[in-house]
Amino acid sequence: MKCDFLIVGAGLAGSVLAERIATELNKKVVIIDRRQHIAGNIFDYRNQDGQLIHKYGPHIFHTNSQKQWDYITKFTEMYPYFHRVLGFVDGEFIPVPFNFNSLYQVFPQKFAKSLEQKLISKFGFGVKIPILKLKNDEDEDVQFLAEYIYKNVFLNYTTKQWGLTPEELDPSVTSRIPVFLSRDNRYFQDKYQGIPTNGYTKIIENMLNHNNIKVLLNTDFSEIKNDIDYKYLIYTGAIDEYFDYQFGQLPYRSLSFNFERIDSVKFQEVAQVNYPNNYDYTRITEFKHFLPNNSDKTTIAYEYPIEFINGANDRYYPIPKVENRELYEKYLKLASETQPNTFFVGRLAEYKYYNMNEVVGVALSLFESKISKM
Ligand code: FAD
Ligand code: UDP
Repeated sequence: MKCDFLIVGAGLAGSVLAERIATELNKKVVIIDRRQHIAGNIFDYRNQDGQLIHKYGPHIFHTNSQKQWDYITKFTEMYPYFHRVLGFVDGEFIPVPFNFNSLYQVFPQKFAKSLEQKLISKFGFGVKIPILKLKNDEDEDVQFLAEYIYKNVFLNYTTKQWGLTPEELDPSVTSRIPVFLSRDNRYFQDKYQGIPTNGYTKIIENMLNHNNIKVLLNTDFSEIKNDIDYKYLIYTGAIDEYFDYQFGQLPYRSLSFNFERIDSVKFQEVAQVNYPNNYDYTRITEFKHFLPNNSDKTTIAYEYPIEFINGANDRYYPIPKVENRELYEKYLKLASETQPNTFFVGRLAEYKYYNMNEVVGVALSLFESKISKM
């Protein structure tokens, strides 16, 4: 088989590039995936109740970039959904990220008010502060509050999720969910937010629906690399695997989901409830909240973090830590020295904790800065 570009991985990164190359450059693309479906970790499907189920965990598209938003909305309509998350803390369901509404829920009114005033005068209203930064504040009251939030919201959730404490991870992990000095209960404050009305898989289907693109599923790169005659390779799989783990394996975290269909109209107040301190799962997602649905049944997923074991489960999260980054850099150096005409892009190939919009961003800029100029 012959093509201009072979793309490994039919997830978001590979599919954006396939679409750009086929449409803008009019070149032939073969895109492969070892899984039996397209869309990678954003794969979703409609169940018997007409609800779109996110097979690999809850996905909400959010971005401040008009360019990313304009691109993704060429392939879907977006339902204006704003993600709200509750955390089960001290017997109460409180808004997460921790904000002033959470503060008033967990402390008596008078004490909460004095903390609110202190935080506003010290940092300003509407400011977001990473928990590890707040914990280092010199003010005693701020320290007390930070310690409370750290212990009740972050420590046990993070230990469950990563098998590591917040301090053992890159600070960027916990600063994804900063303490928010506001009454805004939304999980994200990005300008553009939504859920694709027909799901994420449909977006990928629309991207790949082009005469210049051929899709091969159940196909591993190692099995076909010598059978396809290509000029350029775009690789969105794990970079350590590409190089046969010659410097050792890059660590990942995996997940296991327990889906339940329930004979009830609603299970919980919001799409996502986090359980930092109880149970072995981190969160429960109820998919029905994402898009309008009139069924009298609902489906939920319990999410259990597990160790990634090569060959036994999937890679979900790169683990952001200095030594892991250093190992990744070794592979990157090897790639730039030995792999001409090959591009490594996406969450696995770049070993980066990317959100979907960031994947769209890096794929578009790779296309614009390099691929379109070849
Ligand atoms: P992937 O989706 O992993 O695609 C890579 C593909 O390559 C896979 O399908 C894999 O099977 C294939 N592959 C790998 N190696 C080979 C090989 N050797 N041969 C053939 N095929 C191969 N982002 C958000 O913006 N909002 C969210 O709410 C959000 N929630 C998330 C929740 C969870 C639980 C997780 C895990 C991620 C979430 N994300 C979210 C992030 C989002 O899933 C990723 O940014 C995105 O899916 C990454 O796309 P990708 O193409 O880089 O990687
Ligand atoms: N986190 C936490 N408690 C929470 C929510 C998040 O400790 O209630 C921490 C945890 O380390 C988590 C990280 O913040 O892995 C990022 O959370 P996010 O919701 O962005 O995780 P994702 O949706 O990517 O799994």
